[in-house]
Amino acid sequence: MTTTRRELLATALTAAGAGVTPPLAAAQQDHEHDHDHDHDHDHQAVPSDPALRAKALESVLVAKGLVDRAALDALVDTYEHQIGPRNGARVIARAWVDDAYRQRLLKNAKAAIAELGYGGVEGEQMVVVENTAQVHNLVVCTLCSCYPWPVLGLPPLWYKSAAYRSRSVIDPRGLLREFGLELAAEVEVRVWDSTAEVRYLVLPERPAGSEKLGEAELAALVTRDAMVGVARVVAPHERAQA
Ligand code: FE
Repeated sequence: MTTTRRELLATALTAAGAGVTPPLAAAQQDHEHDHDHDHDHDHQAVPSDPALRAKALESVLVAKGLVDRAALDALVDTYEHQIGPRNGARVIARAWVDDAYRQRLLKNAKAAIAELGYGGVEGEQMVVVENTAQVHNLVVCTLCSCYPWPVLGLPPLWYKSAAYRSRSVIDPRGLLREFGLELAAEVEVRVWDSTAEVRYLVLPERPAGSEKLGEAELAALVTRDAMVGVARVVAPHERAQA
């Protein structure tokens, strides 16, 4: 799902304290339930309150010459296309092929991630949690939508939904099942609640059958959802069977 500019602006407004009203949160959930296909267009007939406010603000700021519309577009483009899950996928693939890097990543994520050139806003303190055969990690921000921007880009709509934020804590196994991830009963689920200070990234398990793949090929397998903890990484031969 592509993050729309409206979503970014709505996020910015939420962060600024405008808040998402309960009716809006409900509308967002309805929206998601009605449309489970991938799409980058906007279905909402009437823009949400924060979106309207953002549009009005932008228009006034542009009219007064205080902001440049092209600069705003460049900012949005940066987060949509240059900073995104691809960065995180490179980090994960490196950890899979280089055990010393993996250990540095688990010990000091920010420094290890910076080794690959990533860091900055919304990633001032990052923690990487490792999935194993015994432990599965799931990341949420129960308060709002805190997310490790330098490695994952902007959060998807579902990550910000009230349903995800509450159910990840109340019933993580049930939630994961809905994402298509069935965990064995003996696997421990650890839920990590992000904050404005600390952002989490899941180091998924390297899929069986990927031993011969190189770092770039491995990175191509790693998905955003796997790094949030709502999916596992699937090897090419498993994908072919799916
Ligand atoms: Fe948050």
